[in-house]
Amino acid sequence: MKEKLKYFGFIFGFILCITILVSCSKSENTAADSQKLKITTTTTMLKDLIQTIGGDKVEVINLMGEGVDPHLYNASAGDVEKLANADVIIYGGLHLEGKMSDVFGKLENSGKDVLDVGNTLDKNLLIFQEENIPDPHVWFDTNLWILEAEAVAAKLSDIDPENKDYYMSNLESYKKELSDLTEYVIRRINEIPESQRILVTAHDAFGYFAKQFRLEVRSIQGISTDSEAGTKDISELADFIAEKKIKAVFIESSVPRKTIESLQEAVKARGWDVKIGGELYSDSLGDKEHNTNTYIKTVKKNVDVIVEALK
Ligand SMILES: [Zn+2]
Repeated sequence: MKEKLKYFGFIFGFILCITILVSCSKSENTAADSQKLKITTTTTMLKDLIQTIGGDKVEVINLMGEGVDPHLYNASAGDVEKLANADVIIYGGLHLEGKMSDVFGKLENSGKDVLDVGNTLDKNLLIFQEENIPDPHVWFDTNLWILEAEAVAAKLSDIDPENKDYYMSNLESYKKELSDLTEYVIRRINEIPESQRILVTAHDAFGYFAKQFRLEVRSIQGISTDSEAGTKDISELADFIAEKKIKAVFIESSVPRKTIESLQEAVKARGWDVKIGGELYSDSLGDKEHNTNTYIKTVKKNVDVIVEALK
């Protein structure tokens, strides 16, 4: 009998221990999660940037998935909730998320911590189109991307000073990687004959890229996809391509391909056969399957596609 009691006592004690252990680790997990800074952002580029700087101290939610066009994106009710629940909201700005400015404005007025990261850049570094509208595609200039990384690191350090050293050290490693990336792009672009360094795409996403790496850039649509491409635009661009005997034009992951296909037809009618050089990632990163799930991998992929088609 005594032996039996001992046995039950042991089993009971064992179960009790397990229960305590499980509940302890559960509450530890919840505590760790709730200590993480909750950041809601818009694009896949910004998600990657914030995750790289914030590491395991942050939880990043992005509203726009892969292949989503930020110029045309409208916030859903669920998005507004994700924005309202964040400790800080970080967005691209410079009218990139053109249809969401009201939402950001309202949240900021209600006292929400909001970082318009494009607005942290010196105006002299920006490309301005007609009517003083800045080109929002700043991420394709690796040096501007470094400045945005610095702005994000400063913001995270500001709201979470305890982890400032951690954020700053992540920033330093990332800057090193971005400088290696810049060297890679320069090396590859140099493989294209100078007369062929002309990049023709569906919309004007590569202005900063072209400026930094000395390419000429032409596109059917302007800096936003929020306008139909006119036949006059296509006709003028087709003349230009046929005249310069440009080897290839490029489609974009977040813009329908029919725009660039009608351009290709128009060039053919002028007696020049221009290839579609491949798909470029413009306003969104790619995914793991295509090895383009980070900013650095995406820029490398773009450059490889451009160089292979134009060299
Ligand atoms: Zn765009």
